[in-house]
Amino acid sequence: MLGTEILKKVVLNRLMTRSKHHQLQSDLRDLGLWGLNTNALGHMAVQDVDVVDLMAAYGSPLFVVNQQRLEVDIGNALSALKGLNAETELLYSYKTNCTPGILKEIHKHGVGAEVISHYELWLAARLNVPPDRIVFNGVNKTEESLKMAIDMNILSINIDQHSEIDRIYRLSKPGNRKIGIGVRLGFNECSQFGVEVASGEAMRACNDILKLSDRLELRCIHFNVTSNAKDGKTHKKYAQMAIELMSQIERSTGHYTPCLDIGGGFGVPTTKNMSSYEYGLYRVTGCLPKPPKLSDYQPLDRSLNEILTGIDEACSRFNYKRPKLILEPGRLITSRSQMLLTRINAIKQKSCGTKFVITDAGRLSTTFPCDFEYHESFLANRPEAAPEQLYHIMGRICTSADWLMKNRFLPLLDDRDIIAVMDAGAYFSSYSSNFAFQRPAIVMVNGNDVTVLRDEETFEHITAMDCI
Ligand SMILES: *Cc1c(COP(=O)(O)O)cnc(C)c1O
Repeated sequence: MLGTEILKKVVLNRLMTRSKHHQLQSDLRDLGLWGLNTNALGHMAVQDVDVVDLMAAYGSPLFVVNQQRLEVDIGNALSALKGLNAETELLYSYKTNCTPGILKEIHKHGVGAEVISHYELWLAARLNVPPDRIVFNGVNKTEESLKMAIDMNILSINIDQHSEIDRIYRLSKPGNRKIGIGVRLGFNECSQFGVEVASGEAMRACNDILKLSDRLELRCIHFNVTSNAKDGKTHKKYAQMAIELMSQIERSTGHYTPCLDIGGGFGVPTTKNMSSYEYGLYRVTGCLPKPPKLSDYQPLDRSLNEILTGIDEACSRFNYKRPKLILEPGRLITSRSQMLLTRINAIKQKSCGTKFVITDAGRLSTTFPCDFEYHESFLANRPEAAPEQLYHIMGRICTSADWLMKNRFLPLLDDRDIIAVMDAGAYFSSYSSNFAFQRPAIVMVNGNDVTVLRDEETFEHITAMDCI
């Protein structure tokens, strides 16, 4: 018994020593990766604005959007697409960061909207996104949302199950405006998404749409198969399979499907998804996984070229005219331009040796992706300070499951320190919940200017729909 205990301790010790080493050697210890800098006071700054001042002015926790960085990321995506010399359409996935102030910036550059719910469709309409730049995906489209999509005459309603074909047809009216329909391909037979390809169900759905061509038009073949991809391999592989299917449809029915929507899932260099092994180890031992290596990331223009080359190969193999390419990235566009700031409320040294840091942002309210992704973090008030100690950074909800990061190697902390979590622009604010506390404000910085994109929630907002 004593033997196993000792062995456990030795193994754990080794894991933690290795994790400390990885954290120290992280490629991500450079604020420039997020367009941030250190100012004369030694504080982290977003352009000309001191992050410590932001926290003092707007409270904690706080989301801060770096407008210049956002514009750089939008510009990079658009210019990589332009460099392809192909017909393309760039849509932003609303669920990734559904903050209207951010969406407006994105749409200013001519980027459209990929929506998955009635609310998101309504918001796209409210933000004046041209209907021919809206794609409606999702597994659970309500009657009202389908009616709205039909009335708006959007680019494509991508069906996720066969029964949607009849539902859409029933809601349509005779006329000369056909409804653009897409089919989401389900390549993975064990996932709930899409219409199965292997069993022939996807082909059957396409044929059934074509039978209703008095009102429906098969416009798009869609898939969304990966997340935080570091290169173009996965998109390429499935795009080629999609082209094969599109060519089969053309051969058997004469119908040419003009658009291929290759979904989202384009990665960023500054975060990574934990592998199943890392995730399990993190759960069991609290050992924080290795940071991503910058060299593992292939620049976007190269990934897109890889995908397009694959599409062209498939097009020539299956004798299919290259379709218009639709992309629906989320993370790629907004991940890096937003960070989260959180104040330290207490530091507790427990007798087992663990040091807990109590903050007002944990995975159950504000940092959900930190559960399964590696995110770099800094002390906003002294980003250059050297790490000395492992800490469990916890949230404010009353459960031991509300951590932000376990065993983070940090300088010796005191309660004036502010923790900044990087890459909070994808799936942080949209996942935020008001479990016992209000959801945070979102502010955007441009040069010297700070604009409030969303006020901190008030108690009145939280109870607005309650009968009290
Ligand atoms: C979530 C989602 C996206 C965006 O995913 P990212 O990984 O953020 O790029 C695009 N399309 C669909 C259908 C999605 O569900």
